[in-house]
Amino acid sequence: MPDQYAVIGNPVAHSRSPQIHAEFARQTGQDLTYERLLAPANGFMEAVKAFQARGGLGLNVTLPFKAEAFGYATRLSGRASAAQAVNTLKFEDDAVFGDNTDGTGLIGDITHNLGRDIAGRRVLLLGAGGAARGVIMPLLLQQPASLTLANRTLAKAQALQQTIGAGLEVSTYAELAGRQFDIVVNATSASLTGALPQLPSGLFAGGALAYDMMYGVGETPFLAFARVEGAAPLADGLGMLVEQAAESFFIWRGLRPDTAPVLKLLRQTAV
Ligand code: NDP
Repeated sequence: MPDQYAVIGNPVAHSRSPQIHAEFARQTGQDLTYERLLAPANGFMEAVKAFQARGGLGLNVTLPFKAEAFGYATRLSGRASAAQAVNTLKFEDDAVFGDNTDGTGLIGDITHNLGRDIAGRRVLLLGAGGAARGVIMPLLLQQPASLTLANRTLAKAQALQQTIGAGLEVSTYAELAGRQFDIVVNATSASLTGALPQLPSGLFAGGALAYDMMYGVGETPFLAFARVEGAAPLADGLGMLVEQAAESFFIWRGLRPDTAPVLKLLRQTAV
């Protein structure tokens, strides 16, 4: 029987992770299966335990369960501890190892695939959920000129600032009026429902990168807004997805797949 892995979330039907991990497995000659697990909103732990009980070896965790996965893990990586969010679980004999590969994925996509420096740039991060938490420390390690986190619910952003400390500035959307940024990353789930965070006009500096972590839905409301506001280039989160998946694959299998052909294939088979 092949080794079993899955992505767990709600919703999860849109996830391209099964296709990515199937490609990684084919490329590296690994015998494994990778499925989608839809967990009820209040049934994360039960769904994980059931998967473990039928021999599952590891899970990717997507919204809205990254904080619960953090609580479920019994051993954490440094980056998962810093993020207080887990997107990768590995079931070991005597422990559940939790890691967070979202930051590595985002940084790899921006700096390697898109060829953009983060160092010295003014970066705006929208959202304060699991995805945002996972990328704050990795973004700060790139030494941007500034990192501003804006969220609809300011209290959540302020709570994150208390954890992170110096280096992270927080803001409401309205307070962003009159400011400009070189990189704007949408880490809200607004695009999932076709919504747009209530952003003021004029946020994008000349040549600013607009990055939506959402993928697979064509031009999101955020990217449409960014285009009209003059941002260029525009990027969806497919590259981040492939890069974070490669890091998860490495955690589970000890092998680093080549991401470029997989990203190219996904773009060709866009749904
Ligand atoms: P969470 O549910 O943990 O967080 C949701 C965040 O979105 C909160 O900050 C929430 O604000 C905000 N939000 C939701 N709706 C709106 C809205 N209409 N207007 C403004 N803000 C809104 O989700 P995650 O952090 O796990 O995921 C966020 C997104 O990132 C998802 O689209 C997910 O698919 C994507 N993602 C992509 C990855 C990739 O590899 N490409 C990896 C990880 C995530 P509030 O606090 O006010 O409720």
